[in-house]
Amino acid sequence: MSVYVFGHKSPDTDSVVAALSVADYFGKVTGESYVAAMQGEVTPESKFVLDKFGLTAPQLKTSFAGEKVVLVDHSDLAQSPDDLGSATILGVVDHHKLGDVTTPNPLEMWVWPVGCSCTVVKYMYDYAGIEVPKAIAGAMLCAILSDTVMFKSVTCTPKDKDAAAALAKIAGVTDMMALGMEMFKVKSAVEGASMKDLVFRDYKDFNMSGNKVGIGQLEVVDLSLLDAVKDGLYAEIGKVKAEGRHSVFLLLTDIMKEGSEMLYVSDDASVIEKAFGAKPGDKSVWLDGVMSRKKQVVPNFEKAFA
Ligand code: MG
Ligand code: MG
Ligand code: MG
Repeated sequence: MSVYVFGHKSPDTDSVVAALSVADYFGKVTGESYVAAMQGEVTPESKFVLDKFGLTAPQLKTSFAGEKVVLVDHSDLAQSPDDLGSATILGVVDHHKLGDVTTPNPLEMWVWPVGCSCTVVKYMYDYAGIEVPKAIAGAMLCAILSDTVMFKSVTCTPKDKDAAAALAKIAGVTDMMALGMEMFKVKSAVEGASMKDLVFRDYKDFNMSGNKVGIGQLEVVDLSLLDAVKDGLYAEIGKVKAEGRHSVFLLLTDIMKEGSEMLYVSDDASVIEKAFGAKPGDKSVWLDGVMSRKKQVVPNFEKAFA
């Protein structure tokens, strides 16, 4: 029986590539069959990365009842498959706060406070003395560039930079910043995508003191690229909130200006001022220097909701 390796819902490049690399790693270490999976379609950014390095996307799969699994890039139930409770979790490879997933059995945990799951995976390969395959190394490099916003995010650590440099060497990438810029330009394109696609492209639900809170993020090289869709995005997060959430926040992150305009719909907008000390406008607020949902947005809101 194969073991499935998968990342969070609305998979990003780290979730997709960590699934591929962790499946490769455990397959080699154990000699057993590990299969990469993902809980949703790839984003244009991930498609660019897979195509660039000639990799096949993980298998699309949303139900894991009765299966053995390894989680990557998350350990929150809200981001896991709905039937995870009927699966056996063998391991977790992640770089977020520890979530609410628990197990009745011992498991292999690799959870480090670094900028990207794929950074952890690089150290796993090193620990086992296994060379990262060339194509997977290139994709892991892209995942690190994506998650750390080309090393600019406050989540970035020296380990991420070291891992990226080593992976670039294996992959034969000589100019990683040019590769990162090419990838972020793909990520910035919104033409042809529905408002729903854009809101859920990088979206996570959280349980904050009993309140269901959704936080999405779009990272672009220039915020003006989103001018034409901003009203549509605002209308769409209103619909998402109406499904039974206390609040929905959508971060429109300008990676060059290094800040985010946050669109919001909330039962109680005072949480925004509590979280960031900034008085929100009617529909949005500019958060200077805020680029990381994980480190700068989620913890602040958790405190504000507590
Ligand atoms: Mg992720
Ligand atoms: Mg990640
Ligand atoms: Mg991200």
